Amino acid sequence: SSPLPAPSSTAHFLIDRAHMIRRRIAVIGAGAAGLAAALELRREGHGVVVFERAGRLGGTWVYSPAIDSDPLGTNPKREVVHSSLYESLRTNLPRECMGFFSYPFAAVADASERDSRRFPGHREVLRYLEEFATDFDLHRLVRLRTEVLRVEMEEDGGWALWTRRIGGGGAADEREIYDGVVVCNGHFTEPRVAEIPGIEAWPGEQIHSHNYRIPDPFHDKVVVIIGSSASAVDISRDIVGYAKEVHIASRSECAGAPMKEPGYDNLWLHSMIERVLSDGTVLFEDGSSAQVDVIIHCTGYKYTFPFLKTSGIVNVDDNRVGPLYKHVFPPQTAPFLSFIGLPWKVTLFPLFELQSKWVAGVLSGRISLPTPEEMMEDIKNFYSEMEQSGWPKRYTHNLANCRCKHMDWLASQCGFPPVEEWRHQMYDVSQKNRFLHPESFRDEWDDDDLVNQAHQDFKKLLI
Ligand code: FAD
Repeated sequence: SSPLPAPSSTAHFLIDRAHMIRRRIAVIGAGAAGLAAALELRREGHGVVVFERAGRLGGTWVYSPAIDSDPLGTNPKREVVHSSLYESLRTNLPRECMGFFSYPFAAVADASERDSRRFPGHREVLRYLEEFATDFDLHRLVRLRTEVLRVEMEEDGGWALWTRRIGGGGAADEREIYDGVVVCNGHFTEPRVAEIPGIEAWPGEQIHSHNYRIPDPFHDKVVVIIGSSASAVDISRDIVGYAKEVHIASRSECAGAPMKEPGYDNLWLHSMIERVLSDGTVLFEDGSSAQVDVIIHCTGYKYTFPFLKTSGIVNVDDNRVGPLYKHVFPPQTAPFLSFIGLPWKVTLFPLFELQSKWVAGVLSGRISLPTPEEMMEDIKNFYSEMEQSGWPKRYTHNLANCRCKHMDWLASQCGFPPVEEWRHQMYDVSQKNRFLHPESFRDEWDDDDLVNQAHQDFKKLLI
């Protein structure tokens, strides 16, 4: 396994242990965010219990060939599979900037059974997370097969957690009290689906990308894929060799004539679906139409916290989780309730790490927060700036316009220098390359200078 890295300039902080408050903290979820939170909370001296309903850690990166009992994912009573990965998935970020600061996601040298590609397959990411947990001795903090059913604030300020052992032979639910709760339950499981006029009478099959695994079931079918996200691009390329025709319907396409994707005979790019008919026809806003067998909704996910009973302290409204100070703390209960990992369009693992350091430091009293009133004022200003610039509410946690600034702000709160420039640049270069060359960006690139800078930095961790 990888050597235990020494702390780097961005991973290390000098802790004044004499003045720290140690608290007992519950972390919900043992995906990448929950593991980062567990490590940082323990580094800060807190007692940590991580609750994980699955039988192993890794969250999203635990691939399952199984799918939800409702493939569209709209039936609230359906049996849910947590992960949304498809079999062929490779990362959409290069490993150098995807990994944690304190634990580089470097290729393992001389290991033939490992996936050393720069954009590795999903199994390699899971191995990386497992090694992270092993090397930092996190497994013993995690209670596997333990689902958090309910989280409630007590009158004296403590937090009550009701949990259930899965497969535990009908053991009664347990109730425990913690000083604080860090929510890391992931947000790529609850599908959002497109609203399509006429869909009630349309006879075809519908699934959400959450339930897409392999291309074989689409053999010889006419498929419409809704969306323009990374999943829409990947899945269209995954099935195009099997399907008779693939039509991508995207809101970001203008309403001109449909375009054939270069290099394909059966892959078309359209504007959005206008409506569908009871004879199986799909009409696009560009005036074209097709007889369609399957619609795949690659339309994203909803934030959901079914276990949180916080009487309105934090709500989800049009995919805005709020009010939250800097996407992490509800002011009214800060710092005892926090959320790691809500933002998107950012390098997630490094973000989880910085958010976790911040939460851990605030809980111990080493880092100060503004007053609740000041935090609310900051949130209101943020919302009104969003509104003025026409940024929709559902994009509240989309950091596309402020990614670098936000990461550097978090680093500064934790007493660290700004994030290394090569990380920002590598993210930008890879996203641009992905957009321009969706077929080849994972195997062809021209930012080797940034890769070299990354490896120079990683060496410092191994000294
Ligand atoms: P998750 O990994 O979802 O973990 C949440 C955990 O919480 C799960 O283990 C779940 O079982 C547990 N849980 C939930 N509710 C409860 C409960 N009530 N009680 C107990 N446990 C609970 N990111 C990248 O950086 N690079 C990529 O290339 C990339 N590709 C992606 C491709 C796809 C198709 C998807 C869906 C996501 C991708 N991501 C990628 C984003 C990915 O989700 C994040 O990298 C990251 O793994 C999210 O970690 P998390 O801990 O926030 O959530």
